[in-house]
Amino acid sequence: MDLPEDHHFPPDAPLAVLTTQPLDRVLDYRAPEGGARIGDFVEVPLGPRKVLGVVWGPAESNLPPARLRPVERVLDVPPMRDELRAFVARAADYTLTPRSLMLFLATRAPGLFQGQAMRRVYLPGDAPPERMTDARARVLAVMKGYGGAALTLSEITRAAGVSAGVVQTMAKQGALIEAETPRDTPYPRLDPARPGKDLSPDQAEAAARLCAGQGAFGVTLLKGVTGSGKTEVYLEAVAECLRKGRQALVLLPEIALTAGFIERVEARFGARPAEWHSGVTMTERRRLWRMVGQGGAQMVVGARSALFLPYRDLGLIVVDEEHDSSYKQEDGVLYNARDMAVLRASLAGAQVVLASATPALETWVNAETGKYARLDLHARFGVAELPDMRAIDLRAEDVPSGRWVSPTLQAAVEARLQAGEQSLLFLNRRGYAPVTTCRACGHQVQCHQCDARMVEHRFQKRLMCHQCGATAPIPTACPSCGVEGRMHAVGPGVERLDEEARALFPQARVAVLSSDLFASARALKAQIEAIAAGEADIIIGTQLVAKGHNFPLLTLVGVIDADLGLHGSDLRAAERTFQLMRQVAGRAGRAERPGLALLQTHQPDHPVIRAILSGDEEGFWRAEAEERRALGMPPYGRLAGVILSSPKAEELFAYADALAARAEPLLRIGAQLFGPAPAPVARVRGRHRVRMLIKAAKGVPLQAAITQWTAQLKPPHDLRVAIDIDPQSFW
Ligand code: ADP
Ligand code: ZN
Repeated sequence: MDLPEDHHFPPDAPLAVLTTQPLDRVLDYRAPEGGARIGDFVEVPLGPRKVLGVVWGPAESNLPPARLRPVERVLDVPPMRDELRAFVARAADYTLTPRSLMLFLATRAPGLFQGQAMRRVYLPGDAPPERMTDARARVLAVMKGYGGAALTLSEITRAAGVSAGVVQTMAKQGALIEAETPRDTPYPRLDPARPGKDLSPDQAEAAARLCAGQGAFGVTLLKGVTGSGKTEVYLEAVAECLRKGRQALVLLPEIALTAGFIERVEARFGARPAEWHSGVTMTERRRLWRMVGQGGAQMVVGARSALFLPYRDLGLIVVDEEHDSSYKQEDGVLYNARDMAVLRASLAGAQVVLASATPALETWVNAETGKYARLDLHARFGVAELPDMRAIDLRAEDVPSGRWVSPTLQAAVEARLQAGEQSLLFLNRRGYAPVTTCRACGHQVQCHQCDARMVEHRFQKRLMCHQCGATAPIPTACPSCGVEGRMHAVGPGVERLDEEARALFPQARVAVLSSDLFASARALKAQIEAIAAGEADIIIGTQLVAKGHNFPLLTLVGVIDADLGLHGSDLRAAERTFQLMRQVAGRAGRAERPGLALLQTHQPDHPVIRAILSGDEEGFWRAEAEERRALGMPPYGRLAGVILSSPKAEELFAYADALAARAEPLLRIGAQLFGPAPAPVARVRGRHRVRMLIKAAKGVPLQAAITQWTAQLKPPHDLRVAIDIDPQSFW
């Protein structure tokens, strides 16, 4: 990165190219006939193939240029800016990912090789048609109606009601002129001058602070309960960013939320922003990738991968629901989009807004120590109040076996049904039952390639492994002892709760919201809209419902098993349960009617449950933070997970032991190494899994030490070593 952005390599000069191929280094080539610049996207030969790369810097070897293969060609796209190249490099170094793999994330645009795609258009010509017909007159009228703008064939035929032949003949005669224009067109302009909502004093103050900070790097935690208007406030920050002529990126944790959000953007700015996530078509992605680089897209709404787009001038990144665990990518490249957003913003001179009702502990601590600014929205907007929260002590309730709704909760739902209001029954478990056992021998049905029990999905009439997705028919005979008719579902999933709700409340309309029950994001969105419009009385949902959907008629939330998240040995179990329960409870009473949240628990005196009920959030964060500090855990110390996997168990354990015995480079920086031990999920897709955990103080060169450590021992073929910096999960 020592050469300036516009450094030019003359023809035949040696240069280094970073390709998207799985190599952990740059390759040397010589510049093509027209020369090349740093950051140029190029096509280079690699073995018998041609691959995509970016001119990264001066050649690393000192081979004479004649010995180097030439760059095949420079692609017709703007070069990658210094800012994005630095981001690719820094993100790769931080996550211990090969740079080529990071570059791959930044070049996931279809059609990069093809150059600018063109399309044929027609303009009004000078010559009149040789013979005027009705059809031809209609075409001329359409062209005139559009003020001489270029129109495509299908636009003309549709508007004029003529066949393609009419248009083509007119073009031959000179009555129309054929031309080519780029297919990828800029997005409609968003207008930040349109008025936003009238903000409350709290909101206005927060908006003003967010606007004032722009133009330089900075991070702000925007904390406020669900419904307090965080979205309204950060849209004002977006408006300011657009006024400054810079680009804004809003990250959402889930695709199902984008449709509703995009409508709000359209209402605020008069046009729709660009969208980037797995549900977007290839054509649209190609357009967005190009437009974001040319400044033809002012605002992008997307999933975490939108962080790797080639923005021309990124001024603001909003991470909505910043605590959401889906921001951590858990396979392939392991990175946390929230942290990478902060990194990218620091390189782009942009502001970051982290919005949440229940921030991650890391974020809370960063705000506490003054590293991040913090803005609080205290009240819900309008008259909506935070729900009243109470525990239902399951030890004192008479719940029949095979049932999960306690009499107290049942009565509360009944009351809502009478009042014509909605209830949500929350259970964070997909499927019908988490366990299928044989009553004769006690056998539990396991996935044959994972260390996991098969989950019954009665709706699909299959058993499914939630680790690998494998499915199997529901057995009538025990796979172990062979006895017929004794297989039995144990424990509840949302499908089983659905069955119970229909039995308890036969007149009620029950809807289940679970990600696996919908074929498409569109179907899910339609269901969510129907529920919001009041087309269900009881909603049964997994954590999908915890995320930001707005159901105005919902006044009761019943949490079926508030203890579910507390059992794990996970560092973040308390934090996660606290966040999830507060989020779910926040669904109740968003409009004029006050809400009630009831938590079914066997441990009403557990400190986490008590903190949830009392609503003493700051107290909870302080206690959690104190505990982490005492243990030297993040954010006061650092962790790195090491996950080794292989189909061959013996080889795996031997390698893990050998690696652990060479921990010198880690010990030298004062780090501790725990393990190796079989992972909690010890086998997935036929691969055995072993974990180690590295714990280090803040501020030591952890990544460098890990690189040295693992470099000592080349893993055998088929053994994978994955390093998870700042791990979020420990399975
Ligand atoms: P959050 O993002 O904190 O959950 P939202 O911004 O979605 O909150 O606001 C919740 C609801 O209240 C939305 O329907 C929003 O349009 C409305 N709202 C918030 N602030 C205002 C305001 N100042 N004027 C009018 N409506 C508002
Ligand atoms: Zn499996």
